[in-house]
Amino acid sequence: MSFLGNLIPGYRPFRYTGENVACNLCGSTEKAVLATRDRWLNPLTNVICTHCGLIRVDPMPTDAELERYYTDHYRLHYQSTLEPTPKSIDRGQKSAKARLDHLQQFLKPGARILDIGAGGGEFLAEAKNRGYEVEGVEPSVGFARYAERTYGVEVHIAPLNKIDFGSRKFDLIHSFHVFEHLRDPFASMELVHTLLKPDGYFYVAVPNMAEKRTPTGMFHFAHVHGFAYETLRMMGEKAGFEWVPSTALRAAQVFKRLDAPRSDWFRFPKHAAELEKKFREARLSKHLLSADPYRRAWGRLKRKLGERKLKAAG
Ligand SMILES: [Zn+2]
Repeated sequence: MSFLGNLIPGYRPFRYTGENVACNLCGSTEKAVLATRDRWLNPLTNVICTHCGLIRVDPMPTDAELERYYTDHYRLHYQSTLEPTPKSIDRGQKSAKARLDHLQQFLKPGARILDIGAGGGEFLAEAKNRGYEVEGVEPSVGFARYAERTYGVEVHIAPLNKIDFGSRKFDLIHSFHVFEHLRDPFASMELVHTLLKPDGYFYVAVPNMAEKRTPTGMFHFAHVHGFAYETLRMMGEKAGFEWVPSTALRAAQVFKRLDAPRSDWFRFPKHAAELEKKFREARLSKHLLSADPYRRAWGRLKRKLGERKLKAAG
């Protein structure tokens, strides 16, 4: 086990105690278990709120446990490096360009943009190239410094609620695959609301839990919350935003700041039951009965071994 654990850090179970919490979106404590394993087949329980459909790790890790997890495990899950790799930079640049092509319609020339979870700074760099005023937030020191050094952009290395933005307000706050990591995503959306100009926009993208995948493939300790289009939209509306209509009902949406939060945000009352049913059916389907998840885990292991050999040979 420790041999495998060293080879694939994600394979190593992360032990934690956690705490019971109510649903971050609707406050209900009613829940149903969706899965008891993560994508590496380690024990990890994910539940769905049977009232609104928001998914969460249960019990919820505490702040201290999450911090320990990030210090010991994270990034190593994906890449054994503390800085971006050429591959991640290339991927980040392409995806940043596509997002800015889409977001440009909401922005005036010279608009001020904040990127929450700036990573290696590809989005900031692309936005700066297009003439916008940019700054970022990124908790990983290696990535933040890399972005500053490489693109000459300002990146804050602190939790969002600890940063002093002075009187600065933003025209667009952008966050790509960050909110699934937060214990209190609703509070963070409310904070985003306070940092925007009156007509500012909020772009948020998270993994789409309604997407068809293998049942365990979706779950990951660091993803303490799981959204679909419906829960993302309801949370945005509850936090004081208006949804900007889009035909792609993915878990990536644009919101416009409203002066006051809306009380009629609970607009998808059937969503929880529908999503739960989807997971139940996926569990029953051939996927789990077949060796698929095991084969994928084995494939990952073989790839890692191969990379290791290449490294040793080079
Ligand atoms: Zn709920």
